[in-house]
Amino acid sequence: NLSRRLTAVANHVENGMKVADIGSDHAYLPCYLAVQNKISFAVAGEVTDGPLQSAQEQVKSLQMEHVINVRKGDGLEVIAPGEVDAVTICGMGGILIASILEKGKDKLEGVSKLILQPNVAAKWVREWLEKEDWVLTAEEILKEDGKIYEVLVAEKAGTSPYSVQGKEKELLFGPYLLKEKSDVFQEKWSGEKKQWNNILSQMNNSESPETEQRKKDLQYKISLAEEIL
Ligand code: SAM
Repeated sequence: NLSRRLTAVANHVENGMKVADIGSDHAYLPCYLAVQNKISFAVAGEVTDGPLQSAQEQVKSLQMEHVINVRKGDGLEVIAPGEVDAVTICGMGGILIASILEKGKDKLEGVSKLILQPNVAAKWVREWLEKEDWVLTAEEILKEDGKIYEVLVAEKAGTSPYSVQGKEKELLFGPYLLKEKSDVFQEKWSGEKKQWNNILSQMNNSESPETEQRKKDLQYKISLAEEIL
């Protein structure tokens, strides 16, 4: 059984798409898509030997070698331009996801959809998408086994979800998620706010310029969280 987190990602893959799953680990996501007959070609990329081997074993045990190509390499270097329609990058921090996209952006020509699942720091991913003219077309937030996950979908065409006034806030919280304000969303940001307040309360007696700046940043984020909760 695929996790709810990866099922949410899989649901955004369109029938017949060719997919590259970068940092695939056990290749659960491409295997699920292949077994469902949703896709006819996938690349499962891995940079680390252990997970690479897990991916190979999983693909073999399901006899999906004719659909899924397991390749070793860093980020998008495992695909050729034009080889896939969609790229999925899941279960990593937003900073790492953004850096994989940045480093491999010449490989994204011909890719029409990115489905990204940052565990933390989704803001970095939204900012990279904006910088590179990808349109954020959908977002999801969900809780599984006590952890909260976000899924971001971006396409080459569409209408920007950002407003002129609220863009900074929307980049942090997610324009769609902010509109929806689901229970999980509120739980996430009230938790973050609590943590920021805790950090702030422990910082009070240091006075270096860096600490002052850090305090200001925290206070700013806390005020944003207060506005939206
Ligand atoms: N995508 C799977 C998921 O969501 O369940 C696995 C997530 S796992 C926490 C992250 C995986 O990404 C690890 O197996 C790691 O080896 C791989 N990884 C990290 N950086 C990578 C990179 N630059 N290129 C390819 N794989 C990478």
